[in-house]
Amino acid sequence: MNSGELHQRRLAAVAKGVGSVVDSYVDHAAGGTITDVDGREWIDFASGIAVTTVGNSAPKVVEAVRAQAERFTHTCFMVAPYESYVAVCEQLIALTPGTFAKRAALFNSGAEAVENAVKIARHATGRPAVVVFDHAYHGRTNLTMALTAKNMPYKHRFGPFAPEVYRAPMSYPLRDGGLSGAEAARRAIDVIEKQVGGSNVAAVLIEPIQGEGGFVVPAQGFLPAIAAWAKANGAVFVADEIQTGFARTGRWFASEDEGLEPDLITTAKGMGGGLPIAAVTGRAELMDAVHAGGLGGTYGGNPIACAAALAAIETMRELDLCREALRIEARIKGALRDAGPGIAEVRGRGAMIAAEMVLTDGEPDPTRAAAVSKACHDAGLLTLTCGTYGNVLRFLPPLVISDEDLDRGLAILLRALRT
Ligand SMILES: *Cc1c(COP(=O)(O)O)cnc(C)c1O
Repeated sequence: MNSGELHQRRLAAVAKGVGSVVDSYVDHAAGGTITDVDGREWIDFASGIAVTTVGNSAPKVVEAVRAQAERFTHTCFMVAPYESYVAVCEQLIALTPGTFAKRAALFNSGAEAVENAVKIARHATGRPAVVVFDHAYHGRTNLTMALTAKNMPYKHRFGPFAPEVYRAPMSYPLRDGGLSGAEAARRAIDVIEKQVGGSNVAAVLIEPIQGEGGFVVPAQGFLPAIAAWAKANGAVFVADEIQTGFARTGRWFASEDEGLEPDLITTAKGMGGGLPIAAVTGRAELMDAVHAGGLGGTYGGNPIACAAALAAIETMRELDLCREALRIEARIKGALRDAGPGIAEVRGRGAMIAAEMVLTDGEPDPTRAAAVSKACHDAGLLTLTCGTYGNVLRFLPPLVISDEDLDRGLAILLRALRT
């Protein structure tokens, strides 16, 4: 059945609220490419939104999933526990920044991890308020919609939203007049202190590099100043590393770039090699504050997903994917150096790079971003856009993509940018 026929079936069966970037239906995928049912090969600069960091159907992941599926598929860790769940928590504790005592808990999705980080922070502090930032994206469940900044498409007509969520201004060097990290932090802290009050804040939740909000990289010094404020005020500093974590930005976690040691870290996306798994990892005294039975879920840390995560982490280590992320960064940034006018900024770290498109007066240019993206799709390159203004092209290739596929993709991108 070809993509056109599948699309007709989809229209009659799948809710319209669930969108897709392209109309081609996938047959199979490998390292850096996806082949659709029409036999067309795509170069993958999306990784299923930063998920297939180790590549699609990475050999170790496939073998681990097969072996685990043959042993047992599900017992529920809350009913009858098993080793792989414990082993994933051990890996999280070892890999996340901070040498203090830690614990971890596993969930199914990024949004679920964020919800649980908020639960843990509120329980441990006995405080209600959660501070988030402009352009933030934390998910689509009721609490995480409240935490997410952007109305369309994430929140529109889905309210009312969860209370006690407060939004502070973000450091966005291109769009905040070039405030330094310290200045932007002072601006944010002023809002928090005046509108919320330090002693009411359970958690300050932030993406070290914002994902859906536009790959916004805060000015140097911003994140450490916010973390220091949280510490001084007894609030839990939570880094949402769901998109940035697990080698994506050239380090195991983006927080490491400025030496941050978040109290809690949420992870998902890249950690499972394509299977749904997520986690909250952090200070033992916070994680263990919650009563037994207070955290969990039927599927959280499913054994097949745990086996996949262990294999994915092993693959990241074996192939030194942090180094590969830096190789990809150098190649993408090098190619975009002569991409022509209309790009205000190329930013990001590792294999998480964005180009922000603007009109001649500096105003956001979502129309051109959409047109370039469409031209890329027509030429067989799978790219995504993002940003509060929808004017940011973002590149998230699998970290195992070959130089050859990367260059073929970049050639398509440059052609699309020049026309
Ligand atoms: C994707 C994402 C989420 C939500 O994860 P889901 O698995 O889609 O629920 C939360 N935070 C960040 C930073 C993300 O990129």
